[in-house]
Amino acid sequence: MAAEHTTLIPVSHTHLDELRSGLPLSRALACQLIRAGEHELPGLLAAAVAAKQRFKPDIITYSRKVFIPLTNLCRDYCGYCVFRRDPGDAGAHTMTPDEVMQVARAGEKMGCTEALFSLGDKPELAFPEMRETLRRLGYNSTLHYLEAMCELVLRETTLLPHPNPGLLSAEWIRRLAAVSPSMGLMLETTSDALLRPAAAHDNAPDKIPSKRLRTIEEAGKQNVPFTTGLLVGIGETPEDRVNTLLAIRELHLRYGHIQEVIVQNFRAKPGIPMQDWSEPTHSEMLRTVAVARLLLPDLNIQAPPNLSAPYYDELLGAGINDWGGISPLTPDFINPEKPWPHLEELRLRTEVKGYSLRPRLPIYPEFLPAVTAGPGLLAKKVKAAADREGYAWRATAA
Ligand code: SF4
Repeated sequence: MAAEHTTLIPVSHTHLDELRSGLPLSRALACQLIRAGEHELPGLLAAAVAAKQRFKPDIITYSRKVFIPLTNLCRDYCGYCVFRRDPGDAGAHTMTPDEVMQVARAGEKMGCTEALFSLGDKPELAFPEMRETLRRLGYNSTLHYLEAMCELVLRETTLLPHPNPGLLSAEWIRRLAAVSPSMGLMLETTSDALLRPAAAHDNAPDKIPSKRLRTIEEAGKQNVPFTTGLLVGIGETPEDRVNTLLAIRELHLRYGHIQEVIVQNFRAKPGIPMQDWSEPTHSEMLRTVAVARLLLPDLNIQAPPNLSAPYYDELLGAGINDWGGISPLTPDFINPEKPWPHLEELRLRTEVKGYSLRPRLPIYPEFLPAVTAGPGLLAKKVKAAADREGYAWRATAA
């Protein structure tokens, strides 16, 4: 089954000129623009870049990180996932505290400032093997173990943890926010159609959109800087993408806590249920990024460069202002066949487009006061990691 092909609809130059000068984008026009034809694309991209330049002129950021895949066991079976394993599968693994610290210390030596914890969602609910692993490690649940590892990395290194553990209750958001300056959950899509049989989320109980919106909203109520985003090309329509962006916008307008929105494209990989699906085209990706920028003009918009290689620098022309986490050390375990670009190449390709590349922390500068105002280890570590403008002072550009 292939991702839907877009129907291209002409958009008037007047509309594009108005957007370029800063007029807000309506849902109706967003739905039209996300299906815009190739000859409208330059006008759409120019409007998106103008919006980016009004928001954060001339700077593109990235986070120098290590990737810590705490466990790849997961109770969900998303059709596009190459990361997850069942117990006993080749490569199934839950990291020990020693392994976590080895990666964190190696990253520290290479100037990294972020420890990105990625893991499957609640594997102990599905697998007795995970319950046994947690018992041996001395924890009641994967979230208890994650909390302890975030605290260990925060206490013992200069890295700042950024956990992505899946759905969270209000209590777990509070607990993880005490040991990490930000956290993330991809909304992915607001379309319930993807829960139907044979769709991307038909066997993924943690991907029910209303549940994911609830986690993001709870983080907002607690003023926790939050990363979210959408997946492009997993069976949703272009209008679904607009709806997902609008749902994120609504939560941010209410709580002001969305620190970045990731626009991530589906890539087909051998061995996954969706291995034969069409990938979104490059221009589909550019249109989606540009519409995201115009719908969310004051939010950090990120797109991963490794998933758009070799033409990733064209994403700069669609209005992104961040490349996301780039690791000089660990592979992208979510998309292991797509290596990150070398940081020096990333810097050169960013500068050729007229921007300077700047390392940031896993918390964006404008969100620092939400974390540094309080007492305690987290505030102290974040203050120590930030330069006067709130960017990362330890990380180097290459
Ligand atoms: S994408 Fe996340 S929730 Fe889905 S199967 Fe993979 S690890 Fe599990």
